[in-house]
Amino acid sequence: MTQVETARGPVDADSLGVTLMHEHIFILNEEVRENYPSDYPDGWDEDDQVDGAITKLAELARRGCRTIVDPTVVGLGRDVRRIRRVADGTELNIIVATGLYTYNDVPFYFTYRLPGLPGTGREDPMTTLFVRDIQTGIADTGIKAAFLKCAVDEPGLTPGVERVLRAVCRAHAETGAPITVHTHPRSGTGREVLRVLREEAADLSKVVLGHSGATTDLDYLTELADAGCLLGMDRFGLDLITPFEDRVGTVAALCERGYAERMVLSHDASCYIDWFPPAVVPQFAPSWHFEHLFNDVLPALRERGVTETQIDTMLVANPRRYFGG
Ligand SMILES: [Zn+2]
Repeated sequence: MTQVETARGPVDADSLGVTLMHEHIFILNEEVRENYPSDYPDGWDEDDQVDGAITKLAELARRGCRTIVDPTVVGLGRDVRRIRRVADGTELNIIVATGLYTYNDVPFYFTYRLPGLPGTGREDPMTTLFVRDIQTGIADTGIKAAFLKCAVDEPGLTPGVERVLRAVCRAHAETGAPITVHTHPRSGTGREVLRVLREEAADLSKVVLGHSGATTDLDYLTELADAGCLLGMDRFGLDLITPFEDRVGTVAALCERGYAERMVLSHDASCYIDWFPPAVVPQFAPSWHFEHLFNDVLPALRERGVTETQIDTMLVANPRRYFGG
C-alpha cells in the first residue's frame, strides 16, 4: 500500500478520501510581520490564528473533506512548525509542499549559489534542498513534503522562474514526488510549463497545472489534459478573476467530453492571507472560502449533468493517483 506523507506523518493513499488539492492554511510575509508588528493585520496572535485555522478545518471535515493539500512554500511564508500545531488539532490530513514561489527572480540567497560558482556543488542547491524536504523532512521537524510547487505567472519563463521550474523537475526525477505548478492560463503559461516538463522528462501524470480553471478556452485545456497533465480547477470563489458560471460551465463541459480523470477541484483559499487587508476579502470575494465547493459548486455541477462518479473521480480518485495510490 502506498504511503503519503502528511503533517502528522505517513498515511495510506487509500485513506486520503475527499481531497481539496490546493488550499493554504497561512500565507504571510514573515519579514514584514516581524518588522512591523503593530501595523500587521489584526495584530497577528499566533495562538488565535492556530485556533482559528483549526476551527475552519473542523467545519470542512464536517462537510466530508478528509485531506487538504497545502502548496505553501518559501516565498509564501511556509512554517511547518505552525502547520503541525494546526495538524495536531484537526482530524484532516494536511499535505505539505516544498519548492519556491516567485513570478520573477529567485531570492538573493540563491542568486550566487549556482552550480559551478565558488562553494557550490554540481547540482542546483535548490534541488538539493527540495530533495531533503521530501526525503529527510523540513527544518528538522521530521515532517516530509509530499509534493513540489513552483509558479509560472504572467511574466512567463523569466530566468529565475525557469531555474526554479527546472530545479523542481530534477527533484521530481530524484524522488518521484508529484508537482503542482501555478500557471496563468490567459497568457498561456501552461504550454511553456509543458515544454520544460517534457525537456526534463517529467512524469506528466504527476503534474497539476494549477489555476487552469481561470480560462474557458477548451482547446487550451484539452491540449494540456491530452498531454497527460491534471488541470487544477482550483480557484472556485475567485469570481472576480473568472465568474462562477464560467468556472462551473468549463468543468461540466470537460466532464461531458470525458475529462473528469484529468481535473482536480479546490479554492486556493486560506485561513489567513496577508496580501489584502482582512476586511476587504469578504467584500471582493465573498465565496472565497473552504466550503464554497460543497455549498455551491458541487450542486451547480450536478445541475449541469456532472455525475456522482465524475465528482468522486475529481475529488478522491485523481488526488489518490497523483500521490501514488
Ligand atoms: Zn495557491
